[in-house]
Amino acid sequence: MAHKVTLIPGDGIGPEVAAAARLVLDAADVGIEWIERSAGSSALESRGDLLPEETLDAIRSCRVALKGPITTPVGTGFRSINVALRQGLDLFAAVRLARSLPGVATRHEGVDLVIVRENTEDLYQGIEYERGSPEAEALREKLEALGGFEVRADAGITLKPISVSGTDRIVRFAFEYARANHRHKVTVGHKANVMRYSDGLFLSTATEDAAHYPDVEWEEIQIDHLSSRLARRPTDFDVLLLPNLYGDIISDLCAGLVGGLGLIPGANIGWEYAVFEPVHGSAPDIAGQGLANPMAMILSGAMMLRHLGERPTAETVEWAVDEVLRRGEVRTPDLGGSASTTEVAEAVAMAVTAWEASPS
Ligand code: NAD
Repeated sequence: MAHKVTLIPGDGIGPEVAAAARLVLDAADVGIEWIERSAGSSALESRGDLLPEETLDAIRSCRVALKGPITTPVGTGFRSINVALRQGLDLFAAVRLARSLPGVATRHEGVDLVIVRENTEDLYQGIEYERGSPEAEALREKLEALGGFEVRADAGITLKPISVSGTDRIVRFAFEYARANHRHKVTVGHKANVMRYSDGLFLSTATEDAAHYPDVEWEEIQIDHLSSRLARRPTDFDVLLLPNLYGDIISDLCAGLVGGLGLIPGANIGWEYAVFEPVHGSAPDIAGQGLANPMAMILSGAMMLRHLGERPTAETVEWAVDEVLRRGEVRTPDLGGSASTTEVAEAVAMAVTAWEASPS
C-alpha cells in the first residue's frame, strides 16, 4: 500500500459519508491502507473516552487522517473534540473550498473561494470561566484592579487571545497557499476597530507579512462588511484569511453561496499532521437514513489525495463529482434529488473507474 491513512467515521451521518468517501477513494486505486479509529460518541461508548489516545497515536503514525463529523453536546461540560484534536496535533490552518458546482443552481455563478482560518487561538482556544465560579470571580476582581473594567457578577467569561506567532504562521500559510495554487489575492477579515489588541494584532501582523509576498495582491476588510459583500458579490474574492471564530462563520456563509454544507470540503493542516474533514457537522436530524450528501466528504478525500502527492487522482475524483452533479440524475434530497448517500457514492465511484479505464 502506498499510503496509510487513519479513518475516523465520527458521529451522526459521519459513518455514512465516511463509507461513501472510502468507496470512491478505493475505486481511485492509489493504494490506501485504512487504519480505522474512533472518536466522539462511538469512542465514548466503546472506549470510555471521546478522544482515545490510540486514535491520536494512529494519526501521529499515519500523519494523515480522513475524519467524519463529531457531535459536541452543548452545555454539558464536554469540550469540543474537534477543538481538542486541532490543538493536540497543532493543526493550525483550516482550509475550506467553496466553489460553484455544475448543475447546482445558486444565486451567484462562478464562485471560487478558499477560506484559510486560524485554528488554534481566538475565542476557540477554550479559556473560559463559568458564571459564578471562583475563577470568574477572581478574574472579575483582577480586571477591575487592572483597568477599572466592570464585568457583571452574573457573567460567564471567554477570552480571546491572538498572538503574533500564531498569526504569523497562518498569514504565511495563506500567502504560500495562494502562490502554490495560482491564486491572485488574499483578503484579511477582522474587526480591528473594536478589538484593537487581538484583531488589531492579527491585522498588523498580516500587513507586515504581506510585504514579503509582492506577487500576491492583498486587502483588508472589516468582517461585517466582508459578510455583506460576500452575500452580494462573492466573485470579488479569492482567498479569505480569517481568525478562528470569523473563519468558522464565514465558511458556513460560503457553503450557503454554493449550494449548502453537503458540498464543502476542508482540511486542518499543521507542520506535521493533516486531518481532512467536511465543513458540515454530524447532522443528527438526518442521521442513519441515507439522506446525507457525501460530496463534501468525498471532496475532502480529494484534498487529502492532493496532500499525499496524488494530484492527478485528486483531479479525477473532483471531475467525477462534477460529472455526477452535471448529469443531475443521482442526487441526495438536499440538492432536490431522491438518491441515497450510497447511490451517490456508487455513481461517483463508477465515474472514477470509467475515467481511469478510458484511453488517455
Ligand atoms: P450540521 O452541519 O450538522 O447541520 C446543519 C444542517 O445542515 C442540518 O439541517 C443538516 O441536516 C444539514 N446537513 C449537514 N450536513 C449535511 C449533508 N452532508 N447532507 C445533507 N444535509 C446536511 O450542523 P449542526 O446541526 O449545527 O451541528 C450538529 C453537530 O455537529 C453538533 O454537535 C456540532 O457540534 C457538530 N459539528 C461537528 C463538526 C465537525 O466534526 N467538524 C463541524 C460542525 C458541527
